[in-house]
Amino acid sequence: MTEPLFRRLALLGIGLVGSSIARVARERGGLADEVVANARTEATLARVRALGIADRTELDPTRAVEGADCVILCAPVGAYAALAQATAPHLAPGCILTDVGSTKQSVIRDVGPLVPEGVHFVPAHPLAGTEYSGPDAGFSTLFDGRWCLLTPPPGTDPDAVERVAEFWRRCGSMVSTMEPDHHDRVLAIVSHLPHLIAFTICGTADDLEGESRQEVLQFAASGFRDFTRIAASDPVMWRDVFLNNREALLEMLARFTEDAQAMARAVRWGDATYIEDRILRGRKIRQSLIELKQA
Ligand code: NAP
Repeated sequence: MTEPLFRRLALLGIGLVGSSIARVARERGGLADEVVANARTEATLARVRALGIADRTELDPTRAVEGADCVILCAPVGAYAALAQATAPHLAPGCILTDVGSTKQSVIRDVGPLVPEGVHFVPAHPLAGTEYSGPDAGFSTLFDGRWCLLTPPPGTDPDAVERVAEFWRRCGSMVSTMEPDHHDRVLAIVSHLPHLIAFTICGTADDLEGESRQEVLQFAASGFRDFTRIAASDPVMWRDVFLNNREALLEMLARFTEDAQAMARAVRWGDATYIEDRILRGRKIRQSLIELKQA
């Protein structure tokens, strides 16, 4: 069996993503000899114990990171600064500090300056998730065949970057390195904007009055149903993503609004060619995703 990469892995936050990592460690091995789980509430840690997915649970994050050679921030990105502030003095020399946050410039801004000398900070983002949250929602195959993007700041120890890359490969992911601002722009269009649209369209439907609103729910066709799946995502996690990728999200939203206006114009003036062309582009993108096995 493969030698584990780390002796003690501390997960600060153990919801969908953290508990999926814990399950990989338990079910496949090769990640760590010991997994320590931390959450904000005792209720979540009680669930983690009942599920048997961690070796130890600690409500105090400073105790959770003690003696760990790898610490992964797995809480909503808005909580990172406080978690890093509290735990930084307790990180062991040589420890790797990494994360799974959906935004990367904000993580480098909030956590970077707090990282003690001798600790290696390697920001990461597994592009894998579902609309469910909490430790019951995780599963060990979540990362299989999915990308994990690393955004190490300049000067990061290459060995630490390679260990984090290997960690994600052992979780089943393909790994790539990217500049943090590029990451945030790409994610704004492929993930953050679609969520914004889904939350908005559900809000619009909910605002409809009386009968129409009832009918939306009763006859929800696949288009609307697909949006409701995305819109069921965790409000705190997504609030934090929007607030921490503000610039890129607003830019993509502005572009989208222009394109939506162009489509509206085509509908108003009966420009069938334009409408058909746009729909065709959508089909082509879907086809490409299927070919890349990312559908
Ligand atoms: P989740 O299921 O909602 O779990 C969040 C965890 O963080 C819980 O254990 C929670 O503890 C803890 N937590 C919440 N607020 C905290 C705070 N202020 N201080 C300390 N701990 C806190 O979230 P998730 O979906 O796993 O997301 C975790 C991270 O992964 C986020 O940064 C997100 O951007 C990123 N991510 C998510 C997805 C996705 O699709 N969900 C995909 C890729 C990356 P309690 O349960 O005790 O409150």
